[in-house]
Amino acid sequence: MSERIETNVLVVGGGPGGYVAAIRCGQLGLKTTLVEADRLGGTCLIRGCIPSKAMIHVAGKFEAMLQHVGAGKLGIRLDSAPLFDLGGAVDWKETVVDKLNGGVAALLKKAKVRVVQGQAVFTDAKNCSVQSSEGPVQISAEFRSAPNTLFWRPDRWLPAFRAFPMANMSGRQPKRYCSVRCPNDWR
Ligand SMILES: Cc1cc2nc3c(=O)[nH]c(=O)nc-3n(C[C@H](O)[C@H](O)[C@H](O)COP(=O)(O)OP(=O)(O)OC[C@H]3O[C@@H](n4cnc5c(N)ncnc54)[C@H](O)[C@@H]3O)c2cc1C
Repeated sequence: MSERIETNVLVVGGGPGGYVAAIRCGQLGLKTTLVEADRLGGTCLIRGCIPSKAMIHVAGKFEAMLQHVGAGKLGIRLDSAPLFDLGGAVDWKETVVDKLNGGVAALLKKAKVRVVQGQAVFTDAKNCSVQSSEGPVQISAEFRSAPNTLFWRPDRWLPAFRAFPMANMSGRQPKRYCSVRCPNDWR
């Protein structure tokens, strides 16, 4: 039997686009579900920006060490050339990726985002199915005002209202803009 998840926001893809959006929705009190077929972090974290920068960092260190071989440089001298262990470099790169992957998972958890592992297949605009490792999951997404959104928070109505431009009632250009700053957690 398949599990059914009803959610306000469905995010497909746990890359930098997806996980940031999901975390923010969760922080704003929306019931949020994120589906990721591979590992959290997407191309950037798992096989793109982060791994490539980690390996470039290794190459840079190695190149810098080579400059100290023989006559030396800056008063630092190496008797022989350093050895490059590709396996060791890849292992180190993986620890960086694992750490950041765990960080993304922790941030999603803290924002109360439900993470479903598997490939999302849309059946229509608001519904998708996922074959997760724990069995089939049906996800239905529909936005309803959640208790933590502006509508349900009268204490936020006044600052929200004051943040809008004060229009000139005669229909000309706005006369002035209120300088009320929104609380940090709105941004
Ligand atoms: C080698 C390399 C180096 C890079 N270096 C940089 C850099 O230095 N700086 C920079 O800004 N950018 C860099 N990029 C680009 C960067 O990785 C992307 O711009 C970024 O990852 C895009 O994020 P995204 O969330 O849109 O997509 P992605 O990161 O691709 O995430 C999409 C995710 O969605 C998942 N997904 C897709 N379809 C489904 C589905 N149906 N169900 C479930 N999950 C699904 C995928 O598994 C994936 O994890 C680099 C890319 C590469 C390849």
